Amino acid sequence: MKKTEEIDFEAIVIGAGFSGLYQLHALRDKLGMSVHLFEAADDLGGTWYWNRYPGARCDSESHTYCYYFSEELLQEWEWSERYPEQKEILEYLNFAADRLDLRTDITFSNRITQMVFDEESLIWTVLSEDGREYRTRFIINAVGCLSSTNIPNILGKERFEGSIYHTGEWPHEGVDFSGKSVAVIGTGSSGIQTIPEVGKLASQTTVFQRTPNYSIPARNEKLSQTFIDNFKASTSEWMRKMLLSRGGHAWPIPTRHLIDTPELERRKILEEAWSVGGLGFRECFDDILVNKRSNLIMSDFIKDKIKDVVKDQDKSAILTNIDYPFSTKRPPIDTEYFETFNEENVNIVDIKADPITEITAKGIKTRSKEFFFDIIIFATGFDAMTGSMLKIDVIGRKKKTLKDVWKAGPLTYLGLQVEDFPNMFILTGPGSPSVLTNMPRTIEHHVEFVTACISHMVVNNFRAMEPTNKAMVEWVEHVNEVADKTLLPKTKHSWYLGSNVPGKPQVFMPYAGGLNNYRDICSEIVEDGYRGFNFT
Ligand code: NAP
Repeated sequence: MKKTEEIDFEAIVIGAGFSGLYQLHALRDKLGMSVHLFEAADDLGGTWYWNRYPGARCDSESHTYCYYFSEELLQEWEWSERYPEQKEILEYLNFAADRLDLRTDITFSNRITQMVFDEESLIWTVLSEDGREYRTRFIINAVGCLSSTNIPNILGKERFEGSIYHTGEWPHEGVDFSGKSVAVIGTGSSGIQTIPEVGKLASQTTVFQRTPNYSIPARNEKLSQTFIDNFKASTSEWMRKMLLSRGGHAWPIPTRHLIDTPELERRKILEEAWSVGGLGFRECFDDILVNKRSNLIMSDFIKDKIKDVVKDQDKSAILTNIDYPFSTKRPPIDTEYFETFNEENVNIVDIKADPITEITAKGIKTRSKEFFFDIIIFATGFDAMTGSMLKIDVIGRKKKTLKDVWKAGPLTYLGLQVEDFPNMFILTGPGSPSVLTNMPRTIEHHVEFVTACISHMVVNNFRAMEPTNKAMVEWVEHVNEVADKTLLPKTKHSWYLGSNVPGKPQVFMPYAGGLNNYRDICSEIVEDGYRGFNFT
């Protein structure tokens, strides 16, 4: 029987992706704490462990999609392509974990199912799937914002005699597509990345599209040695640029409004940005997400580009029937996505016009037709931002559950903490800029902020930290206010609002004020004596 004050670890980190690994390192090696990390998968990598589908690649540029807290790591690692493939990112995370000797403090294949706070001892008891209990003072949830897969509840799924996969839980041994007839449901970033690859391998590919998507050519390429050498000689300059930007990317910060730019010049800028490709395309003007008319012009520009590529008029019409402003749903970038539809063995079905009614033993039935498949791929996304947190039974003060507190939508202060859940932190949670940014930059900010909070508590002999109700409510209001100044929440059907998951409260979840501004706000809060937090 453990004494009330006894703990197993000073801190427990949950999740071995980008954020959890750095958090383990920061608390263990910078603060000298006893820390243990629990991971549900049998190895590290988080998103990059699970998303092994053909074509899986990052949309952030490789040399920006990595840890910058260690110059040594930056100098030792060499990325091969502009956008790293899943395999390369996983190798990178393994490299970082080995260099930092993190594996010794990680338990794999052990999902955390419950955490309960004891008000008297101010200690959390964490329960894992294997039935063991661990007591700790701090919990840092690094469970990811896009890690809880969303598989639609389509009638008859269990009857299908072929194989079913979800892009976010892809089998390690891969899938043999040769000679197979394959259905892909979903045309978000995952679908758009995997369809060209599946299209090349399968004998027949049929894409079931509910909402068409704008997509920008990635223009992926091998990185030259000159680029790599220049990068290594100027890492601090790259970091400076990323931290000045709203999205944590190193692109030039836009200064022009599209709407005020004369048409010829506008066209030239758009064409140039299109030829550079990638998510930076959106940043060639600064009013795309706030001015409907500017957005419409950019949206039409993209639709025309799609029409130029797709030769079959019926397919082209289905792919360009887009009725929402560009970038109000997370825009994908692609390698020959639209070109793939020029292949005769790649077809598209508009399931908004002709909805799926059921999955049969042999395939998929829509209202008007039956299709036959060997394989169905769900590229149907995630229960984003709250899904993985709410899978854990989190019980705080006064036996309040996180599920109850977030019933009408997630409440956090800075995306990092929730009132009545002392000493529990969430990395890249709702209310954080997270998914609207180049993730490693937001992750590094959060890990360093949490580490500083814990250090502040140790130095001042505080035993617990949590936000005040006022601070939390005001932050959520601020998150909404900032989002409402943009076009983002106007597109109601988006995982940013949770509307992709039936029954989920519809609230715009990420902080749209920019990572640069968010960092400033956090710094001011700290300078102001951790304004909005209560310390015990
Ligand atoms: P997603 O963006 O949510 O896309 C899911 C797709 O499935 C959408 O086309 C959606 O249609 C469709 N869908 C969902 N439920 C459906 C149903 N019941 N019936 C028919 N269609 C359905 O998911 P994702 O593509 O996995 O991407 C999620 C996020 O992960 C991305 O936005 C991005 O932030 C991240 N990601 C990043 C990368 C990268 O960096 N390269 C790659 C993959 C993912 P509706 O639009 O109509 O809901």
